[in-house]
Amino acid sequence: MPITDALLDVANLGVGYGRGTTALRGVSLSVPEGTVVSLLGSNGAGKSTLLRAICGTLPLHGGMVRSGHVAFDGLRTDSWSPARIVEAGVRLVPEGRRIFAGMTVEENLLIGGLRGAGRRSRRKRIAELYSTFPVLERKRQQRAVLLSGGEQQMLAIGRGLMSGPRLLLLDEPSLGLAPTMIAQVADVIGRIAEQGMAILLVEQNASMALRLAERVIVLRTGEAVFTGTADELRTDDALHRAYFGAAQAAVSGASA
Ligand code: ATP
Repeated sequence: MPITDALLDVANLGVGYGRGTTALRGVSLSVPEGTVVSLLGSNGAGKSTLLRAICGTLPLHGGMVRSGHVAFDGLRTDSWSPARIVEAGVRLVPEGRRIFAGMTVEENLLIGGLRGAGRRSRRKRIAELYSTFPVLERKRQQRAVLLSGGEQQMLAIGRGLMSGPRLLLLDEPSLGLAPTMIAQVADVIGRIAEQGMAILLVEQNASMALRLAERVIVLRTGEAVFTGTADELRTDDALHRAYFGAAQAAVSGASA
């Protein structure tokens, strides 16, 4: 299958772990620059597996691509090392934020920009980031542990941006956040996409995913059961009821 001109192109992807488990079957998606694409799915649907395939980390988990391809910027990357994929411009902001709690906001950002950037360009990137995330500038000297959950998530995203990626993979950025915080994080993600970033947003929280995304893919037990626009998903009654019942419960159970 030819590679499309979208920045990220996943086509007919099949992934397995060991000899037995098939975790993804025939999954296709593409993420053009300046676009948010959301990947929805409940536990075990295959979201982490897809992220691993894009980041080149499947072998670390005993998994392998069995069919199809992953391509970034026109080149097949499914046999590349994770380091080469990062170098090419792909950055994962993992679930659970993983910021350095004892360090200040600014120190966390500086660490995110260590790869391949001089002191001056890191300072320039931080200045650009502060204009997208004014809250991080206000709290630049505060230790990260003192930030709210939403601010910590913004810091994790900001740190991901410090290495100058072209594709940002966001793994459940709404996890554990109250609805008001989710709205703020969503706002920032939307602004980053407007600046030209390609974003793959992996979520269980359907309301956030639909609000931001131009296209949505719903995975269920390793297969894409829906691919289309957010509006099309909202009007797909059966899928809406089957998926959104559980997702809305997850939203109302979230805390700050
Ligand atoms: P969650 O939100 O719970 O992390 P997910 O949508 O990310 O779920 P995956 O973690 O990708 O789903 O799992 C997809 C399938 O692959 C599941 O059946 C899971 O048990 C299996 N799986 C995931 N990782 C491994 C592994 N390292 N070895 C074997 N099977 C795995």
